[in-house]
Amino acid sequence: MKFISTRDPHHERPVSFFDAVLQGLAPDGGLYMPDTLPVLTEEKLKLLPGLNLSQLAFEMLYPFLENEISASELITICEEVFNFPLPLVRLDENLLSLELFHGPTLAFKDFGARFMARVLSRLAGQRGGEIRVVVATSGDTGSAVAAGFYKVPGIKVFILYPKGRVSPGQQKQLTTWGENITALEIEGSFDDCQRHVKSLLADASLQQQVQLTSANSINLARLLPQMVYYAAAWAQLSQHQIAFSVPSGNFGNLTAGLMAAAMGIPVKHFVAATNVNDVVPQYLHEGIYQPRPSATTLSNAMDVGNPSNFERMLHLFGHQHQRMQQRLSGAGFTDVQTLQAMQQLYGRYGYVADPHGAVGYLGAAQYLNQYPDAQFVFLETAHPAKFPETVNRALGFNPEMPERLQAFLEKKEQQKVLPNEIRKVREVVLMLH
Ligand SMILES: *Cc1c(COP(=O)(O)O)cnc(C)c1O
Repeated sequence: MKFISTRDPHHERPVSFFDAVLQGLAPDGGLYMPDTLPVLTEEKLKLLPGLNLSQLAFEMLYPFLENEISASELITICEEVFNFPLPLVRLDENLLSLELFHGPTLAFKDFGARFMARVLSRLAGQRGGEIRVVVATSGDTGSAVAAGFYKVPGIKVFILYPKGRVSPGQQKQLTTWGENITALEIEGSFDDCQRHVKSLLADASLQQQVQLTSANSINLARLLPQMVYYAAAWAQLSQHQIAFSVPSGNFGNLTAGLMAAAMGIPVKHFVAATNVNDVVPQYLHEGIYQPRPSATTLSNAMDVGNPSNFERMLHLFGHQHQRMQQRLSGAGFTDVQTLQAMQQLYGRYGYVADPHGAVGYLGAAQYLNQYPDAQFVFLETAHPAKFPETVNRALGFNPEMPERLQAFLEKKEQQKVLPNEIRKVREVVLMLH
C-alpha cells in the first residue's frame, strides 16, 4: 500500500506509510490518504464479530501496513494500544453511546495518539536520531499525545495550545509532564496554533535541521486506528443496521468512520454533529464551504473554524457534494441546546454525558426518525469529569472524578508562554535541549 496527498489527484507522488507519518503534511500542502482503500471480503466481515478489540484492530490495520510493519509487530502494537474497555452503552431501543473515553487521558484521542507514539518510536529506533513532534491542541489532543509519547526515547514533543481557551483540568493535563514534553501556551486561538504547526511542517530549512513531524489528527498514524472502533461497534450490533453521529471539530474522527465504511463496514448513515462552528454542516446543506474564525463554545475541543480533515472528506467523495450528502448529514447546535441535551440524557436515561458527547446525541436525535430501522450510535468522545463546570451547570452536581484525572490536578504546571508569532514558536522548537 502506498499513500498519496489529497492534492495529488493522479497519484504521481506516492510515499510509504513511514514517510507519510514522518512528514505529517504532504509537501504540496495536502493530507496523506491511502492510494486505495482495501476492501474487507464477506468472509472477513463474518469473522470480525468473533474477535476481541486488538485482534479486530489488527484485521483493520494490517492491509495498510503490511509492507512496512511485520504482522507480529503490529499485533504487539495493537495489544498495547487497544487495551482499555470500549463500552457500547444502550440508552434506548435504537440509541446507543459508544464510550471512547476509557483510555489514560479520558478522551477518544488516546486511540490515535497511542498508536502513533508506538509507530514513531519504532521508526526512531530504526532510523536513529531524534524525532520532534509538534502538535496544536484545543484541549484533548495535547494530553493524549503527551501521555502517549511521555518518556519515549528519541522523541521530543511540543504542544501548542491557545491561552485561556482550554478548561483548567485540560490545561493541567497539558502542562504538568516535563521530561520530553514541552507545553507552549500561545497568545492566540486554536486556529492560530494549527496555522503555526502547518507552517513549521512546511518550512524546508527547519526540516533540514531537525526531523519534524506533527501528531495532529492530520497525521495518518492518528487517523487509521480511529477506524477500529467503528468496526468494533458494528461487530457488536452486526445483526442490525447501524448509523453513527460523530461530534466533530477537525473531522478526523468522522473521516476515519467514512474510511471504515468505504472498506466495507456496513454503515447506513453518518451524521456530522457540530457546535455553532458548523462550516461542514453548512457545506452539506448548501454545497458551499466557507471557513470562518472559530467561536468559543462549551464543547471547546470542537471549536474549529476551518477543519483540516475536510480536505480528506472531499477526497473520499471525489469532490462531489451530492455523493457526500448521500452518506452524511450535518447539524450544528448551540450551547443552550447542548446543556438541554445533557439534561435530557440524564433525565431520560440517567446518563451523564460530556458536552461533546451531548452534541453527538443531538445529531443522533435529529436524524433518528429518518432511519427508523437503524441502531443510532453517538460517539461519546470525552469523560464528563473533564468538564466538571459544564456538567454542574447542566445537572447541578459535579461528575465523579476518576483517580487518574485527580492525580493531574495536583501536579505543578510548567508551560512556556509565547506571543502569537511563528518566529518565536520556531525558535523554541529548534532549540537544542
Ligand atoms: C478532538 C475532540 C473532538 C473532535 O474530534 P475531531 O476528530 O477533531 O473531529 C470531539 N470531542 C472531543 C472530546 C475531542 O477531544
